[in-house]
Amino acid sequence: MTGIYIHVPFCARKCIYCDFFSVKYQKGLVSNYVNAVIRNLQAYAVQDPVDTIYFGGGTPSLLSADQIFEILNACVKYCNISENPEITLEYNPSGNREQYLHDLRQAGINRLSIGTQSFSDPELKMLSRTHSAEDNIRTILTAYEQGFTNISCDLILAIPDQTPEILSQSLHTLVNLPVTHCSAYLLQIEEETSLSRNPDLLARLPDEDDSVDLYLQTIQTLKQAGFMQYEISSFAKSGYESRHNLKYWRCEPYLGIGAGSHSCYHGKRFFVPENTPKFCKDPVQDVQIVSETVFDLEERIMLGLRTTDGISENFISPQAKLKIPLLIKSNYLIKKSDGNIALTPEGFAVSNTVIAELL
Ligand code: SF4
Repeated sequence: MTGIYIHVPFCARKCIYCDFFSVKYQKGLVSNYVNAVIRNLQAYAVQDPVDTIYFGGGTPSLLSADQIFEILNACVKYCNISENPEITLEYNPSGNREQYLHDLRQAGINRLSIGTQSFSDPELKMLSRTHSAEDNIRTILTAYEQGFTNISCDLILAIPDQTPEILSQSLHTLVNLPVTHCSAYLLQIEEETSLSRNPDLLARLPDEDDSVDLYLQTIQTLKQAGFMQYEISSFAKSGYESRHNLKYWRCEPYLGIGAGSHSCYHGKRFFVPENTPKFCKDPVQDVQIVSETVFDLEERIMLGLRTTDGISENFISPQAKLKIPLLIKSNYLIKKSDGNIALTPEGFAVSNTVIAELL
């Protein structure tokens, strides 16, 4: 089974912490882009069964419902879409968009990944998000009323000034809404973002120990509410794990469409450069090969250890294997009943260090 990822690189404005590839929304450019995506889907004509389609960004919810429908129509027309595909759209909360959510559901979107980020207005303001906590709640409830029963929310952890009490308020709001999945990320300070050049905000970041505590608090609260961790940043109620994202960690095939997208498809890895006008002009040719092989052993270890399934010890070199008993004793690693080794919550909190020990 293959997944299709469609990158929509448009945002209304840039958030201070974000280094994802995106450009400013312009109506004319967006419609050229949608046409290029459709031409690209026609050219690939994916014949392996496709069981997931994922609109990521950027801000895919800046596309009209008609544009989403046209793209999905092209997927069905040119590719081999299997029965009951998971079709996700990343959605930025905003004011009341009841009709839009209704139309998205009618177009075939059956999973929303909502960029809530926090349910605290001061935190949302600090992150330069344009929506409020009330917008988040209203978006989730409206989406649910419009037939979305598979709703994911993003949360950012270790935001400047974040305390366990503020995080607790966000988590408790989230778990009391009709949400089935949560992606909770520790805030990363990326170069070239305006956050990285803001000494005042940087000085107010929680320190490393406090960040670990906020992460462990998140795991604990979500677990109590029935959200089981299945990946370092991903938590789901039973049966609501992201089928699309699991492909990335399990090294399964996916085809990326659009400027800035990456693919692991037909035994090769490649990407489309982050150049929107170039992609619009020639989407079929605009591809650069990263590797003629799928994933090497080191990548498989790194990706596999992101998940609670873990990896077989057979992947680990004899020298690194000697470190496993100590990592288990220190509560960073567990041996599972199927023989795999996997990180514990404490191991996930310091995953870079633990994974480096095992490479
Ligand atoms: S965080 Fe999302 S909405 Fe904000 S700039 Fe990045 S991609 Fe756009």
